[in-house]
Amino acid sequence: MSDPTVTVVLIEDDRHIRRYLRTSLENEAMRVFDVETGQQGIAMTASTKPDLVIVDLGLPDIDGLHVIRQLRGWSDVPIIVLSGRTRDEEKIAALDAGADDYLTKPFSIAELEARIRALLRRQNRCVIAESARVSFGAVTIDLVARSVQCDCEAVHLTPVEYRLLVALVRHAGCVMTHHQLLQEVWGPDHAECHHYLRIYMAHLRQKLERNPAQPEHIVTETGVGYRLVGVST
Ligand code: CA
Repeated sequence: MSDPTVTVVLIEDDRHIRRYLRTSLENEAMRVFDVETGQQGIAMTASTKPDLVIVDLGLPDIDGLHVIRQLRGWSDVPIIVLSGRTRDEEKIAALDAGADDYLTKPFSIAELEARIRALLRRQNRCVIAESARVSFGAVTIDLVARSVQCDCEAVHLTPVEYRLLVALVRHAGCVMTHHQLLQEVWGPDHAECHHYLRIYMAHLRQKLERNPAQPEHIVTETGVGYRLVGVST
């Protein structure tokens, strides 16, 4: 965070598009790490921790969809797909895999830059947990070991409770709507099951809040959803 320059990993096998994008983004004062294969893109994202990833779907080694899924296993970095694939199903698959935005080729560089700015604005409003360990209050979560401690003692969470907690952590500082949480934790078939949320939030507070009746960290946003506050990494 000490370096204000926006860094971008660009995964694109077409040499001409790669060079054009690199030059255009560098003109906007962004720092660009460009690679031509999916595997290189994953490695580059892991090592440079960029602010944004731009990925083509048709890559010489692994499919761009696979790259997105891999990245989403451990990173919340905004991902924009830039692809020649124009069918709705292909866009939907990329967004479902975890992409934040989708642009079809041929594209306008001005539009791409506007979408990058929009994603970065959204991103800056949240404290996205990038590190393996996050904490709030007396609670520490190890996202790699999938373990939770409160006052240095292990806390047992059920798989659903853990997924719910991780969903809140991933969007720490942001309001997660009931709908978003239900979708993310229970899946699209349960997007309206608001009572699930009430029950499981009560469990989480019981296990993690000092005073579950007056939660300091797992905060209710009345009529909207929930927000996790006071998270540090
Ligand atoms: Ca390609």
